Amino acid sequence: MMKRREVNFSNTSDDGCSSITCSNPTKRSVSRKKVNSISSLNVQGTGKKVSLCQDCYRIFKKSTKKDRDMESFGR
Ligand SMILES: [Zn+2]
Repeated sequence: MMKRREVNFSNTSDDGCSSITCSNPTKRSVSRKKVNSISSLNVQGTGKKVSLCQDCYRIFKKSTKKDRDMESFGR
């Protein structure tokens, strides 16, 4: 019986952070679209959601918050 398998080497592991620069345990799942707009976060995989560890999620939150913060600063 021959089984054809997609070979995934170091990417798309389910229990690690999706950031290519780290492999910490994941903390939160976020939309890939949003992550893609953050230049300081490079994620791997192809799913609609990406898993981020606490550190990366913090970066994510910071980066996505910026826009809103700028609004509140301007008063
Ligand atoms: Zn991470």
